[in-house]
Amino acid sequence: MRHHFGRVLARKDFNAGDFTTPLDGLAGELVDLDAYRKAVNLGRKAFRGTHRDDADPVVDVWVGHVRAYADEVPDRLAGELADEANAAQAEEGSTVESVLARIDRKLEGLRSSVTRYADPPWGAGWNGYGAQLQQNNILMAWVLEDGADHCDACPSLAAGGPYEHLPTWPGYGDTPCRDKCKCKVTADQESWDAALGEAA
Ligand SMILES: [Zn+2]
Repeated sequence: MRHHFGRVLARKDFNAGDFTTPLDGLAGELVDLDAYRKAVNLGRKAFRGTHRDDADPVVDVWVGHVRAYADEVPDRLAGELADEANAAQAEEGSTVESVLARIDRKLEGLRSSVTRYADPPWGAGWNGYGAQLQQNNILMAWVLEDGADHCDACPSLAAGGPYEHLPTWPGYGDTPCRDKCKCKVTADQESWDAALGEAA
């Protein structure tokens, strides 16, 4: 007698709980702490004046910020996989294999939502650089990415300033362009010259 897996499976509705165990511990692995530290240190090195602290305060801010998002990923994935499994199961002639295949495809499609927190956003390096400027009393300017399609907030950030403290950092997530922001931070020339002398 042929097995009708589809019918057997159909007795069960999947829910997010079915997927949470395999996704256990995922959140902790999503954020690459070393990569953040590297990015911040790269930004710090771009400033050749005196460094008055190490990278930790800046790394902590970014990692803490991104972990809050990463923590939500497993639950969101589990929910989406359950929905997909239910939809796959409802398909005419569905089998265990067809359900598993659709879950696999879904997981592949969700890959970017899993990996997007792994690498430090662009702004961590600018924050590393900007923190050095700040500690040396050098004002900062927000510089728009060349030729980009800007969100509503970045042009007004660029029009304001120079800033003693920037309202946010590129890619930190406070602007509508969120972590896609590729704006930059530069030193205000006048306060740079005042702090470091024109030869610096
Ligand atoms: Zn931007």
